[in-house]
Amino acid sequence: MRVLLVEDDALLGDGVQAGLQQSGYTVDWVRDGIAANLALNQETFDLLVLDLGLPKRDGLSVLRTLRARGSEIPVLVLTARDAVQDRVAGLDAGADDYLLKPFDLDELGARLRAISRRRAGRANPKLVYAGIELDPAGRCLTQDGVAVSVTARELVIFEALMNNVGRALSKERLEQALYGWDEGVESNAIEVHIHRLRKKLGRDLIRNVRGIGYLLPKSPNQQ
Ligand code: CA
Repeated sequence: MRVLLVEDDALLGDGVQAGLQQSGYTVDWVRDGIAANLALNQETFDLLVLDLGLPKRDGLSVLRTLRARGSEIPVLVLTARDAVQDRVAGLDAGADDYLLKPFDLDELGARLRAISRRRAGRANPKLVYAGIELDPAGRCLTQDGVAVSVTARELVIFEALMNNVGRALSKERLEQALYGWDEGVESNAIEVHIHRLRKKLGRDLIRNVRGIGYLLPKSPNQQ
């Protein structure tokens, strides 16, 4: 999952970025409201963690612009101010949840998983597909109840596919899920990861859609 973090406090931003990366998220970090608008216009993210008090444009205005153009990205608002008004304004502007600073990184991770789940209309914290269960919190995977050893990157790719069953994801979209902007991507990295996932989970599980990308079909057994 690719997260955009918008936070002007260097120390806090650093901690949140490191914590989320450790939980398996890819994190892009910008530090003001204008950079946030630009990033949200140009790139695809799965989640937005948005500080309200920001230089150049405040977080509420970023959020209102985002919702006004129809974006449904799940948003968690961070606020240092203990004012009820801020939280109310954030939720009314389209935030899904909020956290007051200072907060615990484990709680941030749990809240992000919860808002992704709600957006996907799931109550089950695990992703389930064709006998495979992926635990987004524990970062592990089982097939027919047996643990399957996958790398962190394989897990990120499979998680993206499981979050989009029936929808083909392009190679670029999977690369984005895997890497931030500033990390180089090897040209065949996605193919290699898909190849290994097929070897571990079954050859016919992940389908190629010619000219588009990869998908998990809605009914796993259909050809
Ligand atoms: Ca701030």
